[in-house]
Amino acid sequence: MVASSHTSAKPRDGVATLAGRWPLLGQRRPLVVYLCGVVALALAAIAFSATTSALRWPDTLTFTALMACGAVCIEATRRLGMPAGVARDLLSAWWLPVALLLPPVYALVAPIPLQILLQKRVRETVVYRRVFSSAAIGLSGCAASVLFHAAVGDPSALSTGRGWPILVAIGCAVLFTVLNTALIAVAAHTANPDSRWREVLWDRESLTLDMVELCLGVIVAITCGINLTLLVLALPPVVLLQRSLLHAQLQAAARTDAKTGLLNAAAWQREADTEIVRARRTGDPLAVLIIDIDHFKRVNDSYGHLIGDQVLVGVATTLRSQLREYDVVGRFGGEEFVVLLPGADTTEARRVAERLRSRIGRMAVPVDGSMISVTISAGVAVMSVHGNDLIELLAVADLALYHAKELGRDRIYLPATSSVPPAQPSGQQDAPS
Ligand code: GH3
Ligand code: MG
Ligand code: MG
Repeated sequence: MVASSHTSAKPRDGVATLAGRWPLLGQRRPLVVYLCGVVALALAAIAFSATTSALRWPDTLTFTALMACGAVCIEATRRLGMPAGVARDLLSAWWLPVALLLPPVYALVAPIPLQILLQKRVRETVVYRRVFSSAAIGLSGCAASVLFHAAVGDPSALSTGRGWPILVAIGCAVLFTVLNTALIAVAAHTANPDSRWREVLWDRESLTLDMVELCLGVIVAITCGINLTLLVLALPPVVLLQRSLLHAQLQAAARTDAKTGLLNAAAWQREADTEIVRARRTGDPLAVLIIDIDHFKRVNDSYGHLIGDQVLVGVATTLRSQLREYDVVGRFGGEEFVVLLPGADTTEARRVAERLRSRIGRMAVPVDGSMISVTISAGVAVMSVHGNDLIELLAVADLALYHAKELGRDRIYLPATSSVPPAQPSGQQDAPS
């Protein structure tokens, strides 16, 4: 349902068409301000450092060699593809040496050619994301570069093998990673204030990757400082690492719904099956919810599919933020979601479903000055009460969802136990909320 109190009934081709042509304009205003601010800062830093740095041919040669290595890395992994959701690469292995060995202006411009290459050759995405990534990486590299040059003076000291320059290089590489992560995390959180900081900042996997990138960057910088031609030896292992990293991410992406980041239907079903087998073995309770956004077609009809997609992402994020780490949440398809609650009995399942309904009802997705709200209906099925395997539970939850819709939407429905297959005793009352 579209909350009329919050929304202004804009014609579809107003916001939606403009947002279609200029996706940045379809974003929340604080996000637009933040992204433009970071890009403006990077441009100002490029202008300032370009006028204050002297161009030296050895520096330009080192820069070109490192960018060529980055380009080879991109081309060597291009055929594996990089669908949405696959975001990590090992390009810092080339950006970090630029920051450590060359004056700051090179660190500021280094991401530009490689981001253009990624956009043209690997995956075409909205341009403002590429521009922002370039600015964030450039600014982080610039900060690392300024600090390293201030602390060490002559960057060639890095390749003498002495401890101090190497320690400072590691510190600067950490600074690069922290700054870049922070700049991107603020953008992610501004885009979606419901997301948890922990999720947008670091998880264990990305921390490990950051460490690998950091080590690679420092090793390549030392190697490159000894002799530029040694890059020929550094390139193949970095390409190989990049390829295996992409393989791992592609595997993860195959389990994920690209739009919402939740599990896709097939992956959810696999995980749900595993949980059901475990619950049967341990005798623990378990519940399944099927959740459907009410009158979602009206959102699309009024605001267009792009805005509809933002509402889907908002609902998915609210679901994730309201559930425990081990609850299994998936997008079943369209505007339908499924949740498996390990350990939840009838009372707990009803309580959680009610909480999700009320939280999503209070959620508002900002669109060009107005707010879109939606409501959900949910069908609930509890193991041993309504069924004993996933198919039975899903069938009961689906029927319950149908009843919730019939009764007027914006409600949860937990069927009476009489709807259990004959083996189950009846006794509970219908409990539409
Ligand atoms: P009800 O309350 O009965 O569920 O009404 P409804 O409008 O939500 O249900 P209906 O099945 O009539 O319409 C679902 C709509 O969801 C139609 C479809 O265009 C839209 N939809 C499905 N997947 C997506 C998607 O990925 N993005 C967007 N924006 N819309 C989607
Ligand atoms: Mg619906
Ligand atoms: Mg539906």
